[in-house]
Amino acid sequence: MPQPEQRRILATAIPGPKSLKLHEHRGGEVAGGLGSVLPVFVDSAGGGVLVDVDGNHLIDLASGIAVTSVGASHPHVVQELSEQAQRFTHSCFLVTEYEGFVDVAAALNRITPGDHAKKTALFSTGAEAVENAVKIARTATGRSAVVTLGHGYHGRTLLTMSMTAKNAPYKEGFGPFAPEVYRVPSPYPYRWPSGSERSGEEALAALRELVLTQVGSHNVAAIVAEPIQGEGGFVVPPPGYLKAVQEFAHEHGIVFVADEIQTGLARTGDMFACEHEDVVPDMITTAKALAGGMPLAAVTGRAELMDSVPAGGLGGTYAGNPVACAAALATLEIIERERLVERAREIEQRVIPRLEALTGPGSVVGEVRGRGAMLAVEFVNPGTTEPADDIARAVAAHCHRQGVLVLVCGTYGNVIRLLPPLVIGMDLLDEGIDVLEEAVRSVR
Ligand SMILES: *Cc1c(COP(=O)(O)O)cnc(C)c1O
Repeated sequence: MPQPEQRRILATAIPGPKSLKLHEHRGGEVAGGLGSVLPVFVDSAGGGVLVDVDGNHLIDLASGIAVTSVGASHPHVVQELSEQAQRFTHSCFLVTEYEGFVDVAAALNRITPGDHAKKTALFSTGAEAVENAVKIARTATGRSAVVTLGHGYHGRTLLTMSMTAKNAPYKEGFGPFAPEVYRVPSPYPYRWPSGSERSGEEALAALRELVLTQVGSHNVAAIVAEPIQGEGGFVVPPPGYLKAVQEFAHEHGIVFVADEIQTGLARTGDMFACEHEDVVPDMITTAKALAGGMPLAAVTGRAELMDSVPAGGLGGTYAGNPVACAAALATLEIIERERLVERAREIEQRVIPRLEALTGPGSVVGEVRGRGAMLAVEFVNPGTTEPADDIARAVAAHCHRQGVLVLVCGTYGNVIRLLPPLVIGMDLLDEGIDVLEEAVRSVR
């Protein structure tokens, strides 16, 4: 099947009549706990476009939450995963082995930061990868405590939701939570009470205080941090902060885990966001963009840590599914061949000046931030720094009606995040930003 035509087409209102009918049907069949950003049913997708069942072509600035960096139907991914599906769809790596699993592990060992000996374990979802990173760190250190950051997001399973900062909707009603999870303030420069310049230093002091006096460093297995916080609002830590956290962890025999599930694999204009800060994590979790839309996740880390769990201790029936592995190998090839790291930087250069032009005294845009193709606009009540979630929602709704898919995020629900597929055409991207600009103007 050819890729959808790469242009925005408004065939009906959005959502259109067919989508609305399907959405109503869904309401009677699908558990209410599953929300959807936009009640539009997708018929096909690829490049920078989603085509819905009413024939609308939406510009995709979401990538299914940073997943389809190579597009949702890249021909190379489709071909490789189809070929694999024809040979076999599953054997379970815990039962019999296959080469694709080993090849993905080798690729991740090669491209992740650091030239030390590394090993990789594959899983299916990001939350599973984070959980397993914690299991490995606990075995390797013989310690149990896990330290995470304010505004952090690590998944929806019991342990990862306990590690996640934001209560509603992720945690509300789901307790009691997993024990031995401690959280320290994350340096959110725009919102740091004593000013952005002090955020890194003061956040580090809080980390030291917690680990050294409240938990005891000899009890801490791991510090887990996103190098740029995703769901929390695309919060970029001040320069040097991550490096200092890593050094503190090393000083105390604590495993430093970078959760690069959202930031990894070219998204931020480096293969991994840690590289920007010259940080080499002990373990790194990947998922989202890894397999071109197929479910696959990984923990990659220092070989001696990764080997600390005895055989049989890690795994999962579907972990490292062969079809997903074939898709991942194709995806990694495309990232390198199509120079998507550079593409992410081009996207930043193209979009940031236009977003910055929306800031200024009296603007509803409080801050523009992010790196590469992971960019965000934080909305505030004009003349204040009060979070304006109603404005963010109104801007997103305007974009959606005009056929541009954007996502809202942030602890305060007041941030619009842009995560375009890295393969999006620049004209299409420009048009998406035109609509966003128009949306921001319409609310101020
Ligand atoms: C999405 C995400 C996860 C969870 O991944 P799932 O595949 O949804 O389980 C974990 N960490 C970060 C940083 C994420 O963005």
